[in-house]
Amino acid sequence: MSEQRYDVVVIGSGPGGYVCAIRCAQLGLRTACVERYPTRGGTCLNVGCIPSKALLESSERYHEALHGLAAHGITATGVSVDLAAMMQRKDEIVGQLTGGVEGLFKANGIASITGRGRLVTDGTAHQVVVTAEDGSEQVLAADAIVLATGSKPTALPGVAFDGDRVVDSTGALSLPEVPEHLVLIGAGVIGLELGSVWLRLGARVTVLEYLDRILPGVDGEIAKQAQRLLKKQGMSFVLGARVRGAEVDGERVTVSWTDARGEAHEVVGDRVLCAVGRRPFTAGLGCEEAGVALDERGRVVVDEAFQTSVPGVFAIGDVIRGPMLAHKAEDEGIAVAEILAGGHGHVGYDAIPSIVYTHPEVAGVGRTEEELTAAGVPYNRGRFRYAANGRALALGEREGLVKILAHAETDRLLGCHIIGARAGDLIAEAAVAIELGASAEDLARACHAHPTLAEVVREAALDVDHRAIHKA
Ligand code: FAD
Ligand code: NAD
Repeated sequence: MSEQRYDVVVIGSGPGGYVCAIRCAQLGLRTACVERYPTRGGTCLNVGCIPSKALLESSERYHEALHGLAAHGITATGVSVDLAAMMQRKDEIVGQLTGGVEGLFKANGIASITGRGRLVTDGTAHQVVVTAEDGSEQVLAADAIVLATGSKPTALPGVAFDGDRVVDSTGALSLPEVPEHLVLIGAGVIGLELGSVWLRLGARVTVLEYLDRILPGVDGEIAKQAQRLLKKQGMSFVLGARVRGAEVDGERVTVSWTDARGEAHEVVGDRVLCAVGRRPFTAGLGCEEAGVALDERGRVVVDEAFQTSVPGVFAIGDVIRGPMLAHKAEDEGIAVAEILAGGHGHVGYDAIPSIVYTHPEVAGVGRTEEELTAAGVPYNRGRFRYAANGRALALGEREGLVKILAHAETDRLLGCHIIGARAGDLIAEAAVAIELGASAEDLARACHAHPTLAEVVREAALDVDHRAIHKA
């Protein structure tokens, strides 16, 4: 079989893989990117970040038209949902972006190859064998191979995905009708975002969560506020629920669970979304045969330069340690490309923001209060509420809070946590500040335009030193 030679072959075209391939090409490396699906962009563009945000936006506008306009003196009658049109809009956005990645590959001279990639190596000479849908194979040889194969939904024992009544996130992005009663297993990011979509469109939503809180990893105070506000919107929460199974009977699904005392319960819905986390995806990749070490959670083990246990084979994104976020995967893709081109790759792991796109949004960067307390780091806290901000009131968004955490001795910014409208945009300022090693004082001294929500961030920074202006 003939062999094509590249400097770098990237397996996977998600935000980790495609960004890595583009940066490699920019740096003059002859690059190929292998993707098993016909479209580029991975989970994020096809069945993740982008379609979910498209539906969140559409459902938010519907909800606003129904419930939010009256306060502005606007009467809207005859407001209804055309679900097919909403889905088509989502699909068009996805098509535009996945096509855009293909266009960027072309513009950068990247070989875009469709098929399942498998790593073959004798420890020094590396190849990727690509098997196409029709079974034909081609061999790509490269000095460096980057594994960017992402992740897949975790299944729960007793809860079998059937793609119809019991779905994962991909199924929940394309339900054929608004459920009557959607049962969510897992109060994590996916559950709350997709649950919000269907709640706003008219479904009754019950969330079963194993822990005694929602949104693990989010600052505790902010997560409590999120639960309160989602409950106000009509989402029901059962915490401490250990789900045992889901039985489908026609159009009904019975989900059984036990509470903290071990007592058994059931809840019946017409659709179930199980979103209890994602696992790294390495099936068929040939890691075992190639000697690429995986850890106990199935993640590819990498060193600080993203190199696996096999020299010349690298890995990035959801398939390695760290948060499963598109921007983290992208940053790692850029870093590894720069390392391969002889430079120094850097990822600022202390300043990776994370956002939950519910309404209001929840966003955080840096350390939470719980983490600082557990680590024994002394800190000061500044807090400021949206309710005292002019822009928030003009927007009708008085529910919200910004919390800034700074080192008690040095004032260095350690964390920023926000719940409120546009929290996802506001958090960027804190991420830059943490990355640049700024203090709360630095943030407070920077001029913030009036009237903006960003003023809430500044007031919270001032409050670290009890100097907030609009706080009694
Ligand atoms: P992926 O995007 O999973 O891409 C991996 C690619 O590799 C896939 O296309 C796969 O087909 C391909 N592949 C796998 N094995 C092979 C093989 N052997 N040969 C060839 N190709 C292969 N993150 C955010 O930051 N913000 C969000 O708003 C957000 N929303 C999300 C919403 C949902 C519903 C979901 C499911 C996820 C969301 N995420 C979000 C997470 C985000 O999608 C992932 O963190 C991100 O896609 C990881 O990028 P990646 O490149 O590592 O992997
Ligand atoms: P998650 O880890 O965010 O949440 C899973 C939840 O399920 C947790 O609260 C967990 O305690 C709960 N759970 C686990 N087992 C359970 C059981 N048996 N019964 C009831 N509850 C149970 O996972 P996810 O929501 O599936 O999302 C996966 C990943 O995708 C996340 O880690 C996130 O990084 C990424 N993602 C990010 C975004 C975003 O950035 N906006 C959006 C969607 C997904």
